[in-house]
Amino acid sequence: MVLPPKDHPRYKSLLAREKLVDASEFVAKQGLIAHGRGEAFDYLLGEQTCLPALSAIKAASSALIEAKNPVISVNGNVVALAAREVARLSEISGAKVEVNLFHRTPERVAGLTKMMKKVGIDALGVNADDKIPGLSSERAKCCSDGIGSADVVLVPLEDGDRCEALVKMGKKVITIDLNPLSRTAQTAHITIVDELTRCLPLLSDFVKEKNGLDSFNNKQCLTDVLNYMAERISS
Ligand code: ATP
Repeated sequence: MVLPPKDHPRYKSLLAREKLVDASEFVAKQGLIAHGRGEAFDYLLGEQTCLPALSAIKAASSALIEAKNPVISVNGNVVALAAREVARLSEISGAKVEVNLFHRTPERVAGLTKMMKKVGIDALGVNADDKIPGLSSERAKCCSDGIGSADVVLVPLEDGDRCEALVKMGKKVITIDLNPLSRTAQTAHITIVDELTRCLPLLSDFVKEKNGLDSFNNKQCLTDVLNYMAERISS
């Protein structure tokens, strides 16, 4: 990995790009496009966690604390950018981790599972023996002891179709998505409009402190985020 100069004003952003390129064997090329879209929305947030996102993080903390069988679903971008942060959240919350991919190949699942192993997590995903109903082909595959039987699923950077399918299965779905207008953001029960590596440590801290928020309205939260972005643009 070519490390960007530490004094570069956009060091974190450049480092994230390097991490994705470094893991490019296991990150789908389409994931690089999705990352760029996320970066654009992060500019509108001022690259910081806004107050509505903080409420969503607290609501997600409550959902994870109350869950009987929580699962964190990870794809190539999530593992490349935030394997350690996911591992910490998994350890603190007791949530299992499942490698679950839109662009699924056995090689990518195995490679990402290995990357999670390096940070101490035995991720599910290789032996996918279950299906998410309503989805076609490879992208439907999941594990019966993971997503298949989960009551709460955290799916960062998810595709809208799969998010909707998880909601239809009766799961409580938490997502992390910088685009408040995406179908995923609009469909999930709790949408954290924040950058992945910025919000995961906060979420872990809140779960650890048992700090949550039970009364939460996702539609209102998304409206608040959009108003926040609009105010930033107009000022
Ligand atoms: P949808 O199907 O939900 O309408 P989409 O087609 O954009 O949206 P994907 O291509 O799977 O779905 O995109 C994943 C989402 O993740 C994008 O909305 C993007 O803004 C967001 N995203 C990308 N990188 C990050 C990141 N580091 N942190 C948070 N969100 C991110």
